Amino acid sequence: MGDSEVEAITDADATLGESPVWDGVRQRMLWVDIDAGDVHTFDPRTRHRTRRRYGAPLGFVRLADDGRLVLGRGGNVYLAGSSTSELVAGVEADRRENRLNDSAIDAAGRLWAGTMRRDATGAEGALYRLEWNDGTPTVRRMLDSVGISNGIGWSLDQASMYYIDTATHRVDQIDFDLVTGVLGNRRPFIQTEAARPDGMTVDREGWLWVAFPSHGQVRRYSPTGKLDGVIEFPVRRVTSCCFGGAELDELYVTSARDQNVPPGAAAAGGSVYRCRPGKQGQPANRFTTSRFLP
Ligand code: ZN
Repeated sequence: MGDSEVEAITDADATLGESPVWDGVRQRMLWVDIDAGDVHTFDPRTRHRTRRRYGAPLGFVRLADDGRLVLGRGGNVYLAGSSTSELVAGVEADRRENRLNDSAIDAAGRLWAGTMRRDATGAEGALYRLEWNDGTPTVRRMLDSVGISNGIGWSLDQASMYYIDTATHRVDQIDFDLVTGVLGNRRPFIQTEAARPDGMTVDREGWLWVAFPSHGQVRRYSPTGKLDGVIEFPVRRVTSCCFGGAELDELYVTSARDQNVPPGAAAAGGSVYRCRPGKQGQPANRFTTSRFLP
């Protein structure tokens, strides 16, 4: 797949790197270290990095339409500016053993964010939809009995949501109504057998890129669910991926520390990787904070 030579762009300093997202306005990549509670940024032109501490567990970072960051910490969603952090909503006051995990913004500016048990067992997580309605944030539980809520994406025609509950070893396809945000029929789309899918992104042509921490791979699938190619990484626990760079032609891949490898070893994990697989991503959707569209 193109020139998919893999380069580590950071030291292996994350415990659980996740949630990569490209900010096209500020031309920088952002991601979280869930266990450290940090948001990291990387500017590929200058290679300048920043790290900001918000507190663990920090499940995700996404972008809002007003320039703030959308953060999922513990069971709460925040909007974080340069000096302020505003609580938007809590999703699971009744499920203290859970925390927010991966998330995505749909094309209408809604936040979709899932949960999991902090110990990664059971199926007591859920998927939530958060949107701004007449100045009020509104949360709805959209899927229940989720093990580890992870990657979320959409088909190019917006008629399908792709959804990964890692515990199922599947990518599911769910009928999606962009106007109402309602989910319909859910069915298995990709069966991954022994492999455990984690985060994902959808490229400009509607193909899926899925990270497999069980195998040290990112796999590309066609819009019909056919395996098209595999990128191998020097570490096993690759967690999620996202296109970035000025042309959206660089694939950024987060990773986590592998407890089976001695710290400091080359395969210990915790770096962010980059490669150029010859494809382009889509600009990141932004959370709509001012109004609800359409
Ligand atoms: Zn994940």
